[in-house]
Amino acid sequence: MPRKPRNRIGESYGQLTVIELSERRSTAGNAYWWCLCTCGRKREVPSDSLSHKKRSKKNITECRDCAQKLSREGVSRKNNREEQLRRQKAIKNRAELLGKVPENWLKLPLTDAEARELGQKKFFRGIRCLKGHLSPYRINGGCLKCAQKNKKN
Ligand SMILES: [Zn+2]
Ligand SMILES: [Zn+2]
Repeated sequence: MPRKPRNRIGESYGQLTVIELSERRSTAGNAYWWCLCTCGRKREVPSDSLSHKKRSKKNITECRDCAQKLSREGVSRKNNREEQLRRQKAIKNRAELLGKVPENWLKLPLTDAEARELGQKKFFRGIRCLKGHLSPYRINGGCLKCAQKNKKN
């Protein structure tokens, strides 16, 4: 007979507030609680995932939808950081190429993502492709010189 769990109704963990004891028990006999997320959705959460201790990785602090949304936002923040670095690098590379490459290349967007933002098809990061060409790239298409070569063959 599993022991009666401590009443946690009304406690809050991140976006969740414990509202009701669930019928469900883990194989070890631990209780599950129904929690209400600030977005209005409910989530059934095992007792041991409801904790204020920071060290625990399995802590649950929002419903499944909010958790998924938060992790997606985390990913896009990371992508933004990477994109910023890519653009800074491209600016630096292009500064070194001033006078060595056609001037119009240096007016192209810096990266694939910037080309998309500006509604353009080509960009120039100032880097060489795997074949060693220094050339603008086409979004989705890669190095323009490689593309020309492939066409000829
Ligand atoms: Zn939610
Ligand atoms: Zn190439």
